[in-house]
Amino acid sequence: MSQVDFQGRHIAIVGAGVIGSSCAAQLVLQGAKVTLIDRAMPGMAGPSRGNAAHIAAPEIIPMATPGIVISAIGMLLDPKSPLKIPLSHWPLLLPWIVRFTLNSQQTIHAANIEKLANINKTVFEDVESLYKNTGIEHLLRRDGALYLYETPKSLQNAAAEFETRRKFGFESESITTDQLYDLEPQLARIFSGGYRLPQWMTVEDPKKVVTGLVDFCCAKGAEFLCEDVEEFNPNQHSQSRAGQKSIEVKYRSGKSQFFDQVVLAAGVWSKPLLKKMGTPKLVEAERGYNLTYTDPGIDLQRAIMFGDRGVVATPIDHGIRVGGWAEFAGTKRPAKEAHFTAIDNIAAELFPKLNRKENYQWMGHRPSTPDSLPIIERSGTNTNIVYALGHGHLGLTQGPTTAKIVAELLN
Ligand SMILES: Cc1cc2nc3c(=O)[nH]c(=O)nc-3n(C[C@H](O)[C@H](O)[C@H](O)COP(=O)(O)OP(=O)(O)OC[C@H]3O[C@@H](n4cnc5c(N)ncnc54)[C@H](O)[C@@H]3O)c2cc1C
Repeated sequence: MSQVDFQGRHIAIVGAGVIGSSCAAQLVLQGAKVTLIDRAMPGMAGPSRGNAAHIAAPEIIPMATPGIVISAIGMLLDPKSPLKIPLSHWPLLLPWIVRFTLNSQQTIHAANIEKLANINKTVFEDVESLYKNTGIEHLLRRDGALYLYETPKSLQNAAAEFETRRKFGFESESITTDQLYDLEPQLARIFSGGYRLPQWMTVEDPKKVVTGLVDFCCAKGAEFLCEDVEEFNPNQHSQSRAGQKSIEVKYRSGKSQFFDQVVLAAGVWSKPLLKKMGTPKLVEAERGYNLTYTDPGIDLQRAIMFGDRGVVATPIDHGIRVGGWAEFAGTKRPAKEAHFTAIDNIAAELFPKLNRKENYQWMGHRPSTPDSLPIIERSGTNTNIVYALGHGHLGLTQGPTTAKIVAELLN
């Protein structure tokens, strides 16, 4: 991709999560004048704050897989499963579920794998490059990851997914139980085997990625504005440098401001703004839960995905984070205490020597699409507005790659 020089063009980015802050940093590096707008302070809101910290480029299998609808029904009936949908949320979720079901058809699923692989193929180099150019490279850990399975059947079932990942250039090697306990001696002796993914990276703390990127932008002259964006008015003429119509961004405080271009990166909360623009999108809050054990008493060398449990464990700079799950319950309900208790119990089963006394709980809203593909495109109603949202499970992973695509689209 050629690098556009924005020559002082004034671009507003709505949402300072990992997507908005990555876009801001990329645009600052390319000479744009950036105003980053968020109703919360950087690193304080959204799933970008407390996620599992993985740069998970090999995750190219969309959630909508063939057969998922049948297995989802079984999961919903099992109180121990990681999938939750409260009964009262079903009517609101229905359009998303219908599209999700369509995406689980074999041919569409295969096409979605290719699309996801196409985005993720440059993720590692994009992450390395943006983190280096913004001075946050020290946050990266290049320790690889493990995918583990408890039963021989689930280990066998997973083989095809790793074959697919290899086909698209993401390495993995099968490991035996002896090898895995050598690699991670603190694991419970309940596993049948798994895979090692050597390219996988993690970060020391996802919150520090956001604050580090925003600090870089502000040091280079960008502005951070704490405002709640109410709507865009794309029809105002102004003295735009590029001679285009400019866009008015209206804030709930009653103030407003004009920009040459706008990037909408407000995660799942982009929905009301998209609707007002006349371009509604199917993005749902897929809520994930985790606990961070701050005095774990054990060491973990690398990130671990537990294929049978729907949880992952990550060593971060202030402890071990364990969590995951998928609860479709909108953005307004409070977190459910019972889910934290269930994850805490799972953590105890996976790591018998884990000290669970000191911990903090967190729940975040993944902005999930029915095809697991992010929405990175020009607005259908105004080409000077670019959407960068819907990154589901992979926002931290795809932030720098998204930023590169957004810069091209703004050109
Ligand atoms: C439990 C869990 C674990 C995860 N683990 C990983 C992982 O390991 N790796 C990975 O790649 N991804 C992971 N994810 C997914 C990842 O966290 C998300 O995809 C990502 O954070 C989305 O980033 P975003 O910037 O699009 O949205 P957000 O983080 O939601 O940021 C949007 C921002 O917009 C602001 N905003 C919203 N509306 C407005 C408005 N009207 N005006 C002004 N500001 C507004 C919000 O305050 C917020 O700061 C995980 C998610 C969860 C929940």
